[in-house]
Amino acid sequence: MAQRRIAVVGAGISGLSTALALVDTSDHEIVVLEASSRIGGRIDASSFAGVDCLDTGADAFLARVPEALELTERVGLGSTLVSPEPVGAAVWNNGLHDIPDGLLLGLPGRAWPLATSGLLSWKGKLRAAVEPLLPRTPTADDSIGAFVRARFGDEVHERLVDALVGSIYATDTDNFSLAEVPQIRAIAEDNRSMLLAARRQRRSTAETESAATSPIFAAPRGGIGSLIDATARAITDAGGEIRTAKPVSEVSRNDEGGRWLVDGREFDAVIFAGPAKATGSLLTEATPEAADLLGEAETADVILVTLHISADQWPDRLHGLSGYLVPKPAQHRSVPRSGRIGGPPQGARSCAFPSVEMACRYSISPTQKCSTPYSQISALTSG
Ligand SMILES: Cc1cc2nc3c(=O)[nH]c(=O)nc-3n(C[C@H](O)[C@H](O)[C@H](O)COP(=O)(O)OP(=O)(O)OC[C@H]3O[C@@H](n4cnc5c(N)ncnc54)[C@H](O)[C@@H]3O)c2cc1C
Repeated sequence: MAQRRIAVVGAGISGLSTALALVDTSDHEIVVLEASSRIGGRIDASSFAGVDCLDTGADAFLARVPEALELTERVGLGSTLVSPEPVGAAVWNNGLHDIPDGLLLGLPGRAWPLATSGLLSWKGKLRAAVEPLLPRTPTADDSIGAFVRARFGDEVHERLVDALVGSIYATDTDNFSLAEVPQIRAIAEDNRSMLLAARRQRRSTAETESAATSPIFAAPRGGIGSLIDATARAITDAGGEIRTAKPVSEVSRNDEGGRWLVDGREFDAVIFAGPAKATGSLLTEATPEAADLLGEAETADVILVTLHISADQWPDRLHGLSGYLVPKPAQHRSVPRSGRIGGPPQGARSCAFPSVEMACRYSISPTQKCSTPYSQISALTSG
């Protein structure tokens, strides 16, 4: 087959990993076109508080899905993978509460840890406890929120499931498809009761000695940013080309033969790996239907604030914690100005402690005004 020219628009991790798969499996000419002067997109790193390369976006990937692990192996970083210590996390609701044991992405899998948790009110616990008695909940609504509220009640949804899933995906889970979280959808579709299904699953995994104890997250020792650099190197070593500062602004189909014109240059195929809306606007002429669909995609912005707190100021109560989540109702509560332990800054969705004694990363929704000055945030954290 004649060599084909393929353009990949966008050099974030999606575009780079696609380009690498193409150079590995074909002899096509692969050209990655990136608008910015740097590669990596949302993945970036900078020096901070004496650390050379601190990830400023993603800092780990899920270790239980194979793709990222395979990529790190392929680009030679497999042996450098590290995982955070398996310490607990908490939820903030008028104070820190340990996340109850036995959850699957916030969904209760055990009744007892839920019953003894201080996170839920007695009313919330009683409501959750009737879950095994309820008839099957249809999944036709295709909303995580609707499903969990129907099975376990509002408190479990707001304080556990939305706090966890909503924080991971920066989303409102009442308007978020079950399909986006396949682990929840699979249990929801195949079982009447989630609690009973979880018990069955526990029994069978105990019998087969499952990998449930393997780490959830992993990252190369040099940070996720090093995965970008290594992937880019692997692409160019295999003959692909990456061009930065090349924003694609015009895409059309060539009438003869159906080839693509990307800013006047011909390609046999184009892979779009940029944000949905930006991609939609590129496709208005070539495929208006796809352009409309992409234009409708809703996204959310996230602001990440990283603080350095010296080890001697790190409060004892935060030792052994990897961080905490803030349910939406608590995100709107204001922070008392005078209290030593007032709570997270207004608008914060989560707070992670990537290094036990060093840094503290707040993920803040920019749609919610953060009125707390960062000096005060620091004081609250170390209070
Ligand atoms: C603060 C933060 C923390 C996160 N933490 C994690 C985490 O811990 N774990 C995890 O798995 N995920 C995390 N994520 C999500 C993860 O970072 C993103 O899902 C992922 O990086 C998206 O990669 P992408 O290649 O699809 O898109 P992007 O990274 O957005 O890349 C798209 C690229 O396309 C380029 N582009 C756009 N328009 C054009 C054009 N017209 N021409 C040429 N190029 C164009 C852009 O410049 C960009 O480089 C986090 C995200 C954020 C923001």
